[in-house]
Amino acid sequence: MDIIMPEMDGYELCGKLKEDPLTSHIPVIFVTAVSEIMDENRGFALGAVDYITKPFHPPMVKARVKLHLNLKRKQELLEKFAFIDALTEIPNRRQFDSVLEQEWNRAIRSSYPISLILADIDHFKLYNDTYGHGKGDDCLHNVAQAMSRSLRRSSDFVARYGGEEFAVVLPDTDAFHAIETANNLLASIDRMAIPHESSPVADCVTVSMGVSTMVPDTENCANVKNLIEDADKKLYEAKSSGRHVVIGY
Ligand code: GH3
Ligand code: MG
Ligand code: MG
Repeated sequence: MDIIMPEMDGYELCGKLKEDPLTSHIPVIFVTAVSEIMDENRGFALGAVDYITKPFHPPMVKARVKLHLNLKRKQELLEKFAFIDALTEIPNRRQFDSVLEQEWNRAIRSSYPISLILADIDHFKLYNDTYGHGKGDDCLHNVAQAMSRSLRRSSDFVARYGGEEFAVVLPDTDAFHAIETANNLLASIDRMAIPHESSPVADCVTVSMGVSTMVPDTENCANVKNLIEDADKKLYEAKSSGRHVVIGY
């Protein structure tokens, strides 16, 4: 963009683009006759990626635009893979932390409930011991994909939480519907019927789940850590009550 424009100058417009989360990622190149070094500094300080002074040669402008589009694409690719778990191809712990934080804050503003499911594969160590680590990896991939496919609402979010543990964030979801969702997820894993001959629980791979629901507000002092701790406690109960079960209340 130019610096000198009618109504709003380029600096102001660039500042506005950088302020808005919807447009802040757009690379801005200034093309301008204003060539003093102070102006260049101001442009870069506002978040511009490049500065081209007039008079310019079109091939040079094209080359610079191409360069910045390339950089942008590579940056997006890096960001994408930084948030995806390579083995299961679903979001990783890092993305989970950020989504949960975001949804928790949204729940505070809306006063809607938010639910969290923690799921852990039963006797997965025995699975690895029986079938080998490679088959264990395949199993993790299949369980993750089944969970991901089973979620119905676009706002529902599943991530790999740890080794053989998964976490599901359910925004605007009360305890009843969260438990129903957890039971659906459990059933979707049962339906795959992945053989697990050494499991004391069943012939096939099973999971245990803990479900926690809260209506966060600024008064009850509940924080996102309480939600995770509560779900973890329920998961522990599910394990000690025999596994392959959902505990929610
Ligand atoms: P429980 O029912 O109590 O959860 O028993 P468990 O055997 O599933 O739990 P434990 O925590 O004893 O063992 C977890 C196992 O998960 C051990 C570990 O080797 C395996 N695991 C964790 N991450 C991976 C992975 O990326 N690939 C494979 N193949 N195995 C993994
Ligand atoms: Mg575990
Ligand atoms: Mg386990």
